[in-house]
Amino acid sequence: METKNLVIIGSGPAGFTAAIYAARANLSPLLFEGFHSGPAGGQLMTTTDVENFPGFPEGILGPQLVENFRNQAVRFGTKTLMEDVLSIDISERPFKIYSNKTNVKAHAVIIATGAIANRLDIPGARDGEFWQKGVTACAVCDGAAPIFRNKDLFVIGGGDSAVEEAVFLTKYAHQVYLVHRRDELRASKIMAQRAKNHPKIKILWDSVITKVDGDDIVKKVIIQNVKSKEEKQMDAGGVFFAIGHTPNTKFLKDQLKVNPTGYVEIVKGFTHTSVEGIFAAGDVQDPIYRQAVTAAGSGCMAALEVEKWLSEKGLLD
Ligand code: NAP
Repeated sequence: METKNLVIIGSGPAGFTAAIYAARANLSPLLFEGFHSGPAGGQLMTTTDVENFPGFPEGILGPQLVENFRNQAVRFGTKTLMEDVLSIDISERPFKIYSNKTNVKAHAVIIATGAIANRLDIPGARDGEFWQKGVTACAVCDGAAPIFRNKDLFVIGGGDSAVEEAVFLTKYAHQVYLVHRRDELRASKIMAQRAKNHPKIKILWDSVITKVDGDDIVKKVIIQNVKSKEEKQMDAGGVFFAIGHTPNTKFLKDQLKVNPTGYVEIVKGFTHTSVEGIFAAGDVQDPIYRQAVTAAGSGCMAALEVEKWLSEKGLLD
């Protein structure tokens, strides 16, 4: 089995930024992009215009941004494989990484497998229906799009993200409805208060959306009160899921410390994980910011920390 200095798992902004830095430091990284596990390139692949990534004043399409990352990483010598990592074995060093086709050893590993925004299987909100035609899972990414301007927008969830997204959307919306399945928000007190006091936010308590409808784009939702079972139709310009994210950490099979919701635990201010030589960058370790630019920043940190660690351990080729 070949031994690499560094294997990077994941092909979003964190993975590719780590690859750019590691390749420029002559670490000859091998990057597993994934294949069946989700779109190679991560969540940006399902985003249309990215308007908040610095350097693109006119915005850039998510898939194009990923293609740019990939080209830049490859230009400096990153080798990429369109394969899913199925498991890693960190019981001995070098670590072993197994994909569906390639088995390889590595002195250092950067986990950058991201997280997937949870979605609800509501009629009308599925792929091929109104998903990405008014239904999305990221208000910060998509909320400024013209289709949402001056419309009634619905955010599903009752946590900090839901409140944050609802407040964000008030900049563009006519009215924002926060649809929460219970009669109490999960969000922190200060955030909950912000939602309750905001003149443009109305909370629909004990409520769920049972159907999304429209023509080319979302036009209506059916809201059900879960206690009375009463249903009503409301005009809608957009539906935003804010019901949490699931980090892609199953393949680690409990070999690294993860928090109760599955995010890889890192040493504060660094990208070190609980296992020396394994680093984590991007959304897989970040339940808070989850932005392409913060993921890219932590990918850079991970590569710099890997280089320092390999050098300190005398493991550089
Ligand atoms: P979260 O705290 O887990 O909240 C998820 C929300 O979605 C909950 O209100 C939950 O309802 C609801 N939900 C889950 N599954 C649902 C379903 N099947 N149908 C309807 N509703 C459903 O997730 P989050 O808001 O993304 O926050 C994640 C972490 O990041 C938290 O620790 C949060 O504090 C942190 N965060 C912090 C900030 C900030 O400080 N600015 C911003 C964003 C996130 P229930 O309440 O009924 O369970």
